[in-house]
Amino acid sequence: MIANDIGASISEAIMNGHFDDLRASLSSDVIIAGAGPSGLAAAIVLASAGRSVTIVEKRLSPGGGIWGGGMTMSKIVVQESAVGLLSEIGVRYQKVEGGLYVADAIEFACMLCARALQAGARMLNLHVVEDVCLQDGRVTGAVVNKSILGEQFPVDPLVFRAKAIIDATGHEASVVQTLKERGLIQSPEGSQFGEGPMDVEAGEKFVVDEAGVIFPGLYVAGMSVCACFGGPRMGPIFGGMLLSGTKIGELLLSELR
Ligand SMILES: Cc1cc2nc3c(=O)[nH]c(=O)nc-3n(C[C@H](O)[C@H](O)[C@H](O)COP(=O)(O)OP(=O)(O)OC[C@H]3O[C@@H](n4cnc5c(N)ncnc54)[C@H](O)[C@@H]3O)c2cc1C
Repeated sequence: MIANDIGASISEAIMNGHFDDLRASLSSDVIIAGAGPSGLAAAIVLASAGRSVTIVEKRLSPGGGIWGGGMTMSKIVVQESAVGLLSEIGVRYQKVEGGLYVADAIEFACMLCARALQAGARMLNLHVVEDVCLQDGRVTGAVVNKSILGEQFPVDPLVFRAKAIIDATGHEASVVQTLKERGLIQSPEGSQFGEGPMDVEAGEKFVVDEAGVIFPGLYVAGMSVCACFGGPRMGPIFGGMLLSGTKIGELLLSELR
């Protein structure tokens, strides 16, 4: 085989693999916007149960806010109620003071990504959910573009159908924002849109308790829960993100059934 032939074969393998994923993503049970801890935790639950899951991540590297740990120190902390989830995905941890557990942030991000993919979820990195499709008052799909491309050039996005979308985009709550900007979603009575000041314990509880449906077909998990319902921002602790994503995964499993 001459050198150019192998080069073309490599390119063909990459393109075929990518377009298989892209084609399969055209119709999913669930599209998850954002590959942070909450989105990946939801993906693991859904894909492990055999649901068709597409994760759309706007950055090159999935993992969201995990990589930076606390103030760039790549360790994560979880509380007792979430430590079982670390064991389930094979992340090693150590018990420290205060009923807390510490683990390596890089191991955590890698294991979450690996488990989600090995369970069968597809991941489209460098792709962004720009908007949602709405039919008869229900979200029926995501409008997806390549990151950067759509912002810089007049390139039309593609449409991916799904029975449900999870906004796991973190502080931005950027999918919910598309409906809010059009006045289609209002903050619940007496609450605000945007996070409140830090209250670690209340925030960890809020991000799990309030995770749920925000509009027919659209669900929120992780920090976007606080952004949407005015919950307190929480300390640098990741248990709530995992529990919030897992809760939405299980909720959707029962609803899709
Ligand atoms: C400014 C800032 C403040 C923080 N404050 C706190 C805090 O108070 N408490 C705390 O615990 N942690 C905080 N963190 C750390 C961290 O963000 C969270 O703890 C945790 O990572 C949130 O998990 P998540 O799953 O909700 O979302 P993230 O980890 O933020 O992941 C969201 C992912 O969605 C992607 N994304 C966003 N929009 C789109 C879109 N439209 N389409 C596709 N992908 C998209 C992002 O690229 C990202 O990878 C903060 C981080 C930042 C940057």
